[in-house]
Amino acid sequence: MVNCIVTGTAGRMGRRIVDILIETEGADVTGATERPGHDIIGMDIGDYLGLGKKGAAIADNLASVAGAGDVVIDFTLPDVSARHIMAAVDAGKAMVIGTTGFDEKGLAQISEASSKIPIVFAPNMSVGVNLLLKVLHDIASVLDEDYDIDIVETHHRHKKDAPSGTALKMAQVVAAGRGRDLDEVGVFTRHGIIGERKRGEIGVQTLRIGDVVGEHTVIFGTMGERIEITHKASSRDVFARGAVKAALWVAGMKPGLYNMHDVLGIK
Ligand code: NAD
Repeated sequence: MVNCIVTGTAGRMGRRIVDILIETEGADVTGATERPGHDIIGMDIGDYLGLGKKGAAIADNLASVAGAGDVVIDFTLPDVSARHIMAAVDAGKAMVIGTTGFDEKGLAQISEASSKIPIVFAPNMSVGVNLLLKVLHDIASVLDEDYDIDIVETHHRHKKDAPSGTALKMAQVVAAGRGRDLDEVGVFTRHGIIGERKRGEIGVQTLRIGDVVGEHTVIFGTMGERIEITHKASSRDVFARGAVKAALWVAGMKPGLYNMHDVLGIK
């Protein structure tokens, strides 16, 4: 049995993750946290999930409940995740991090923590997107810079970071497929008299609309033809199921930084 602690348990992702953990054989929820002051702090996890008492209360900080599980699953906010990573390292617990929007400092903290605990870190935990990342790398390594590349992502109006972690990852993957560095060829805004498109640039455009769960289209286009590859998530369950799969997988691993390709065995 892999015992999991879910942070941000009342969030859009947190709530789906606890529900899927409960229905997954070999997994259980033995701890949960929410932000200080949230209505569910102090509630029994079992009561919160409608399963009857479990004897563990929802806490307002991870350090106080980290001992109760094997793996911490974190889908919150970058600054909150930073504190959760410190607590998981102190308690020697494995982590699955789905939070997006980390800056350089946050990414460095994750990398450093992974020398002490096993961490699966992925901006998108769906099988479809992770398979697509492999395909995108292959396509970008064949099509030269005669092919313009733009990525368009759409998410719900509540999303806080832009572009999405998935769009950034896709942009990094196609840049790497071409042997280029995204920091040099990435273009994240276009406005005004910007001149002709530069050869080799990789554009990333962001849309924020209503309740869209997550859509990404990668366009490779040249004179006379265009390839468009789209992934549409219509339910957060694809990410939550991926996170639970990652938790079961990472529980038995040595310290290190892993991604969903490792979890899913995509080479
Ligand atoms: P959300 O705002 O619905 O949920 C975040 C939760 O964290 C909220 O309930 C909030 O109260 C809670 N929180 C805030 N401070 C806290 C604290 N100190 N301790 C504990 N909990 C705290 O957001 P969401 O839509 O669930 O997304 C969360 C993150 O996951 C975002 O970064 C999003 O981009 C990312 N995400 C990743 C994937 C993936 O597959 N990797 C998929 C979807 C979303």
